[in-house]
Amino acid sequence: MPTGRSTSNWNGWCTVWAVKVQPGVAGSVRYEQVPEPDVRSGSVLVEAVAVGVCGTDIEIASGAYGWPAPGRERLVLGHESLGRVIDAGGEPGLQPGDLVVGIVRRPDPVPCPNCAVGEWDMCGNGLYTERGIKQIDGFMSQRWRIEPGYFTKVDPQLGILGVLLEPTTVVAKAWEHVAAMRARAFWQPSTALVTGTGPIGLLAAMVGAQLGLEVHLLGLAETGVQPRLVRELGAVYHTGPLSEIELIPDVIIECTGVGEVIVDAIRQIGAGGVLCLTGVGSGGHAHGQSAADMATELVLHNNVIVGSVNANRRHYYRAAQALAAADPYWLAQLLTRRLAPEDVGQAFHRGPTDIKVILDFSA
Ligand SMILES: [Zn+2]
Repeated sequence: MPTGRSTSNWNGWCTVWAVKVQPGVAGSVRYEQVPEPDVRSGSVLVEAVAVGVCGTDIEIASGAYGWPAPGRERLVLGHESLGRVIDAGGEPGLQPGDLVVGIVRRPDPVPCPNCAVGEWDMCGNGLYTERGIKQIDGFMSQRWRIEPGYFTKVDPQLGILGVLLEPTTVVAKAWEHVAAMRARAFWQPSTALVTGTGPIGLLAAMVGAQLGLEVHLLGLAETGVQPRLVRELGAVYHTGPLSEIELIPDVIIECTGVGEVIVDAIRQIGAGGVLCLTGVGSGGHAHGQSAADMATELVLHNNVIVGSVNANRRHYYRAAQALAAADPYWLAQLLTRRLAPEDVGQAFHRGPTDIKVILDFSA
């Protein structure tokens, strides 16, 4: 069991403790000693404060997703980072003690036109890499390194709440892509519906409220923390089938990935409205709707459906602004469970009251 921040073994090599997994192999997650992060992985040295656990991590832990670096079997897990700078590596404007969050994706080596201009979230050839997910070690490590240009400084007042920055980048991008639809026609959205009460749904509702929209959120829980958090945003909470809610939203941010909810969202979106899909799921039934039926709805209402994943540097900047503008007491309620890194196994079992589970490296 780890007792210190690092240890030196008999031959003088320095090691750190990290959560590693063998992608493709269920039950292979271990908290184990690994070599000190190599300086070639980034000139900025960071001490981990916390790392969030999300559905992607659970998928990787189950053996269903993830890729190790070429020539390796195991991968350091974790992409929702928060760390404190130990060595700024000469980076201008960065000091030891600063809180930073690492950007997850790296451009593909070709690069495709999107990666070439820094929009790696829109990578066209799929050859991008991602820390903690695809071929680069992640952030569930007592210390990690990061390259200049691939981190965002976090408002020090946020403290551990900065661990919510990466999930906020996902909704920052989604809202940016919704807003981009204003270029196609005269469009003044006033109502937004968010489906799903996980961290992405709640953060999407938070940003929607910050944008001045009338926000509604559809969830499963009748009572408890999620409905209360929605009301604390000044938003309206709904349960039950979407088709039974008397609301014609201008924007729907879909965060469940559930087939029935997606089909209902297509039918419910207002004329000229935008449906942004952020959830990943599979299966589900479409209430007898054929693709042509759904296309008819979309055509007659001039609707847009846009899929959105990942984030680039601009979205990290916007997400940092959104978190800094949010009520810290509200954000703190999203962190429903804090685990020591050695208890990472417990993070992969989500309970009904869990919103965001984090590994706390700062204890
Ligand atoms: Zn690319």
